[in-house]
Amino acid sequence: MGAPESFTGTTDVGHFIAGRPVASTSARKQAVYNPATGKIARQVALGSAEEVNLAVAAAQAAFPAWADTPPIRRARVLNAFLALLNEHKDTLAAMITAEHGKVFTDAQGEVSRGIDIVEFACGIPQLLKGDFTDQVSTGIDNWTLRQPLGVVAGITPFNFPCMVPCWMFPVAIACGNTFVLKPSERDPSASLFMAELLKQAGLPDGVFNVVQGDKAVVDALLAHPNVKALSFVGSTPIAQYIYETGAHHGKRVQALGGAKNHMVVMPDADIPQAVDALIGAAYGSAGERCMAISVAVLVGDVADKVVPLLAERAKALKIKNGMELDAEMGPIVTRQALERIEDYIDVGTREGAKLVVDGRGIRVPGHEDGFFTGGTLFDHVTPDMRIYKEEIFGPVLACVRAKDFSEAVQLVNDHEYGNGVACYTRDGHVAREFARRIQVGMVGINVPIPVPMAWHGFGGWKRSLFGDMHAYGEEGVRFYTKQKSVMQRWHESTAKGAEFVMPTAK
Ligand code: NAD
Repeated sequence: MGAPESFTGTTDVGHFIAGRPVASTSARKQAVYNPATGKIARQVALGSAEEVNLAVAAAQAAFPAWADTPPIRRARVLNAFLALLNEHKDTLAAMITAEHGKVFTDAQGEVSRGIDIVEFACGIPQLLKGDFTDQVSTGIDNWTLRQPLGVVAGITPFNFPCMVPCWMFPVAIACGNTFVLKPSERDPSASLFMAELLKQAGLPDGVFNVVQGDKAVVDALLAHPNVKALSFVGSTPIAQYIYETGAHHGKRVQALGGAKNHMVVMPDADIPQAVDALIGAAYGSAGERCMAISVAVLVGDVADKVVPLLAERAKALKIKNGMELDAEMGPIVTRQALERIEDYIDVGTREGAKLVVDGRGIRVPGHEDGFFTGGTLFDHVTPDMRIYKEEIFGPVLACVRAKDFSEAVQLVNDHEYGNGVACYTRDGHVAREFARRIQVGMVGINVPIPVPMAWHGFGGWKRSLFGDMHAYGEEGVRFYTKQKSVMQRWHESTAKGAEFVMPTAK
């Protein structure tokens, strides 16, 4: 592959309402940085309640016709969108690298995982097929169907500006809803690009809208009486706020929160494979993945073998501008996030953990103002430490030592988060017991980042998810539709008089 073209656009990022780009009427704006250079690349509009009202009104106006469009015709629009996404995959990936910082090949992977969901949503005619029972009682049939909710909204985090919105809107609009997206203000360009592609694919105006912004937009969506459901992905305190406030306003809510994912390495594991897995899962995307591994639970005597290998690899990470194709780790999204991560390294040291590799203070030649930090490795971390309990969301791996399998399982189960987890072992019985006993929503057996495929659905347990249903997959279809049951009888003769007892099968 030749060097990809960087995304260098400087145009300010506004909204997309009723099928066209809309400049913001509000004076509030926020700088969007290129984290590799540390320079302001463009400004994003911070929308207001009026702009939310416009977007919801456009979505409300588009809803009746879109909901009435046969599912196969909705799927054809999504198929056209799928083709456009594939055609423009690298442009989208370059936009992501330019605003998020993750390496270009990882950004391509993100777009591919988003595309998977669009492919899944193209199967909507099959997914919406209802259930039918002939003759539930003599002359009576009963069937259930699922109908769209109306206007639904998505609020998404910075770390997957293409994939996470794709967890939501393709399924929502395939089901016949209309959508308002509030992307992260830190990397907003991908959302507008996808809006343009949807329009080119033939999506009717108003079915998909984007309002850029911050809390003001989120609060307006939460309170808006015509928004029927909200999907949220982000940090746990905000997820809880969205869940509680959305429920207060009578909305259906799924709110996916933060994480602290453990990887248990058993003494019988293949050590080089486990080390590869830990390095990729802890430092890939600079640890800014909700499924990143941030804790290695090293069982029995395995720590003394694994920690030196991890240290060697963490020190050798190729940290560069993500557009350089041999980069393994790019910069952190913002300077504030970089400072937060590096503060945690101080906290860990003060708490008594052993700092084996200190990623602070690295210099990337030619990118001296970029938001870079290196891979950090701690050993002898204990469950009472803040660096164990709290989500750092950066390239910091904490090694905890456990005496045996039971202690390792207990450690994971006692943690407040339950998003992803992995176990490296060559023992099938241990693997099976792990998968059954662990209190976590997504489990990897010799797979470090077990992000489920499009048709399986994504979601954590405990304080990693508020709500009943996971994102995408069949759970996504259920979330974005409501069930209706229809019971039908066609009389063959004249009325027989009213019945006053509960109907039973006759
Ligand atoms: P964040 O919670 O700061 O922001 C998420 C969204 O909420 C953004 O659109 C933001 O504008 C909005 N928001 C921020 N503060 C708000 C407030 N006070 N009121 C209303 N809305 C507000 O998260 P982030 O920093 O963008 O993303 C990183 C976090 O997301 C991490 O905690 C990570 O674990 C989590 N995450 C979770 C998953 C998952 O599937 N569980 C996936 C990706 C990211």
